[in-house]
Amino acid sequence: FRRIVMASRPRGPVTAENFRMETVDMRPLDDGEVLVRNHYLSLDPYMRGRMSSAKSYAASQQLDHTMIGGTVGQVVASRNDYFKVGEFVGGMLGWAEMGVSDGVLLRKLDTTRIPLSAYLGVVGMPGMAAWYGFNQILEAAAGDTVVVSAASGAVGSVVGQLARLRGCRVVGIAGGAEKCEYVVKQLGFDACVDHKAGNLEADLAAATPEGVDAIFENVGGACLDAALARTNAYARVALCGLIAGFDGKELPIKHSRLLLLNRLTLRGFIVTEHMEFWQQGLQELAALVASHQIKYRETVAEGLAAAPQAFMGLLQGHNFGKQLVKLIS
Ligand code: NDP
Repeated sequence: FRRIVMASRPRGPVTAENFRMETVDMRPLDDGEVLVRNHYLSLDPYMRGRMSSAKSYAASQQLDHTMIGGTVGQVVASRNDYFKVGEFVGGMLGWAEMGVSDGVLLRKLDTTRIPLSAYLGVVGMPGMAAWYGFNQILEAAAGDTVVVSAASGAVGSVVGQLARLRGCRVVGIAGGAEKCEYVVKQLGFDACVDHKAGNLEADLAAATPEGVDAIFENVGGACLDAALARTNAYARVALCGLIAGFDGKELPIKHSRLLLLNRLTLRGFIVTEHMEFWQQGLQELAALVASHQIKYRETVAEGLAAAPQAFMGLLQGHNFGKQLVKLIS
């Protein structure tokens, strides 16, 4: 089967030369092992952090090893009593057509109510990041104004819809008119500001006439500055991601003075450190997706060879909703 390894570490933006496709032989399964055919790979911004050797919250990706990543697929052979051939499972089998698991990080998935691919997005790690940051950090009440950056994306789209369900006024920030229109018309945000239109601070000010009580930050830089400029006293910031700085750019906070003046609380978090919430969170998200109260969108690249290009696109905002790679048709 084929897999993609990291061939070199990026200096600045990721390039195609940082990856290499290889064909590997299948080895016989040991006792307790499961062979999975991957149907979808998840592409996520954190992978950029792992490709660098700099300190990051995720351990760094090793050279010449399969690119790490979440996967969903089907069991095709099993020497593990718990997993049967034909069952759908989620795991961390990386950028590869097949993978062998010892079963420890493998999870059975129920595809009767939720499509398989959604377990990599809205009912998976990104959905949980949204759920955790919104419910455990933002303390948003009905009537509060909540700002969400990367609003059309895997995490941001869920945050905004959870906030709408709670009765908040929700204002997104996204790149381009098409994404903004989707965020308002399809996802039900109250407003969405285009960070590419050149007027971010003024446009966000116009969209938040009563100031901002809570910020769910996915981007950093100009997006965070514009939201901080609008904060009310005691506003909360859930710092989920700083994708604008992923290529090594520092992202100084222009309005740091407001952290004090407005007595803000800012908390960064890593969702995989809070596994005790996952069962509850994923159950709630699954129920909301099954009842169509939470909508989601996916951008699907076809075939393993398309993964590097799709990943580079994700870091540049070319994805529209959760970025996946589909491996079987
Ligand atoms: P998305 O689906 O939101 O895709 C990334 C989006 O980021 C792009 O589509 C683009 O949207 C936006 N973006 C990229 N570069 C820039 C830039 N320079 N300025 C403004 N926007 C930019 O990805 P996810 O939902 O998977 O992740 C969102 C964030 O959440 C990331 O920062 C990620 O690292 C973080 N995260 C953190 C977790 C945690 O545990 N702390 C867990 C999961 C994700 P647009 O076109 O609208 O600008």
